[in-house]
Amino acid sequence: MHPYTPKRQCHCLWCLVPLDKQDFSFLIRHDYLCCEHEQFLTSKVKQVSIKDRDINYFFEYEHTMASLFFRYKEHKDIPLCGCIFYPHRKDLKTIIQDRSVVIVPSSVTKTQLRGFHPLQLSLEICGIKSLDILEKIDNSDQKKKGKAQRNLTYFRMKSSYPTLTHEVVLIDDVLTTGNSLMRCWDLLESQGHHVIGCVLAINSSWLM
Ligand SMILES: [Zn+2]
Repeated sequence: MHPYTPKRQCHCLWCLVPLDKQDFSFLIRHDYLCCEHEQFLTSKVKQVSIKDRDINYFFEYEHTMASLFFRYKEHKDIPLCGCIFYPHRKDLKTIIQDRSVVIVPSSVTKTQLRGFHPLQLSLEICGIKSLDILEKIDNSDQKKKGKAQRNLTYFRMKSSYPTLTHEVVLIDDVLTTGNSLMRCWDLLESQGHHVIGCVLAINSSWLM
């Protein structure tokens, strides 16, 4: 676990290089990362159309990104929350504007095991308040299931939640099968909302 203060970070969250000892430190614009890792995590927002739905994304989900997520989510390297959406907070805020932000939920069991909510926390550090108002009905692990069974996993709105704007931004960190995002998208549309999709990283199979 890193030493961590939310206001001023002395070391790069990724590689722990002291931030004030770097050459060109005057170029650092990121509060939490060294130049090298800031560059790695800086990417313009792009769009991909999946099943006729336009989804905003920043990265292709590849090895380095996967290891960052693993460290953050499974090894509970919580201060890495500043490496997920934070480098893209300006683009994110442009997408969101004054719309409600709804997250694709992870299973209750997983969140309880982790003891924190990785997606919500990575948005919170950007000053973005997200709503965890959808719930997954089937909690079993998606990866262990066949394709037909995966499609049976579905979502519902929680019993009470605040009023949402007509247009909502639906956010997830990684889009792999796309199943969860699309199911949540369907659900929000069935409630009369116009949905704008946004993920940090997307599986390369969707980009071919
Ligand atoms: Zn670094």
